[in-house]
Amino acid sequence: MFYLSFQNQLQLLLLLGFSSYIFATALTIKLEDPRIKAAGLSFAIPLILGTYSFFVGPYNVNGASMYLELSWFLLILVLTLISLLQRPSESLKFLYVVIFFLPAAAIIMQSMLLRLNYRLFVRVFTLVLCAIELLMAVICLLGKNKTRVLLYSGIFLMAAGFTLYGSGIQNLFIAIIPAAAGIYICAHYFYIHSYGVIKYEHSKFSHELERINRSIHVEVIRRVKEIERTNRQLVEKSKMDSMTGLYLKTTILTLLENMIERAPTSRFSLLILDIDHFKDINDSLGHQTGDRCIKALSKLIQTSFRKDDIAGRFGGDEFVVILPGASSVRAYVTADRFRQTVQEKSNPNITISVGIATYPEDGKNVTGLLDAADKALYTSKQNGRNRVTCYNMVDKD
Ligand code: GH3
Ligand code: MG
Repeated sequence: MFYLSFQNQLQLLLLLGFSSYIFATALTIKLEDPRIKAAGLSFAIPLILGTYSFFVGPYNVNGASMYLELSWFLLILVLTLISLLQRPSESLKFLYVVIFFLPAAAIIMQSMLLRLNYRLFVRVFTLVLCAIELLMAVICLLGKNKTRVLLYSGIFLMAAGFTLYGSGIQNLFIAIIPAAAGIYICAHYFYIHSYGVIKYEHSKFSHELERINRSIHVEVIRRVKEIERTNRQLVEKSKMDSMTGLYLKTTILTLLENMIERAPTSRFSLLILDIDHFKDINDSLGHQTGDRCIKALSKLIQTSFRKDDIAGRFGGDEFVVILPGASSVRAYVTADRFRQTVQEKSNPNITISVGIATYPEDGKNVTGLLDAADKALYTSKQNGRNRVTCYNMVDKD
């Protein structure tokens, strides 16, 4: 490359460097607008002619500098043609052929071009192209859509630099810098429409993906919580008697064991309630009425006792209520008040008998307590029903 002047060497480097980047981008990246793709592919011209100039230089200096000039000129010419297209057109396919035909023609017609005064033609024509691009850039600047200003001004600067250089001004700053700025602006325009678009779409999709991930995460947490809640409800339900909604006998027994184990010194009373002559109700009024009686009594238990008291159905017409902290006296008063309520409010009218055992005095464990409460209940039944008996009132003989 040392056969060329310093300015020419710089030009060649500029051309080959930027052209390779732009051409490779146009070739590899899918570009939406075929005009941009065509503009990118047109950088094949300086790539071919510049490389050819490099190899031809050592034995044909005139030819080498002509190819360098033709690189600029043909590139500016093709870019101008493409930049004038206001919308994608069919003629672009024809242009693809021209892009590769032009350098080939220049190489074949080398001696003819050298003989003709190609320089004058090239300079004048470039000046015209320069004026066209300047006009286009100004129109674009004044218009609404300014996206192509970069392309117009890039081509204009390349053409201006080339014209200045050809007019004999070989000053580095005056001639090379506008051309360098022009080709850089073209490369930047290309970047915006290729990698820039990909980068924008990537960040758009990343944000969208992030948003979807976040909403999936929120949805998963919501579903897990829902499943946990349903599971808890199912576990609670499995502890309940389906007919009355009261705790099952097994649940009550577990609760009693836990209470004694956790607070062995804490007092509580255990009430066992049984409907009097319930068989007669079933027999005289029917099983369905019997069921209604059981449900009505369960409701009454749920509404009559305190919130801390625990009620369950032991099976059949037998119920249990645990009164935490209650002495046998307080348990007796509470149970008797409830017995009266049942007597007064039940319909069909029923009565209940109650047996009470108090922890720890009447039983040290669950079995002992249940046994004591059962005995007390039996005494209530024995003594005529519709009454309450504490274990300490039971005749122990
Ligand atoms: P006592 O005063 O001695 O308790 O007499 P009782 O007739 O109530 O005798 P017991 O408590 O032994 O009988 C309970 C009866 O309750 C027996 C059964 O037919 C009836 N029973 C048990 N479970 C149900 C039920 O779910 N629905 C109905 N309708 N009856 C039931
Ligand atoms: Mg009964």
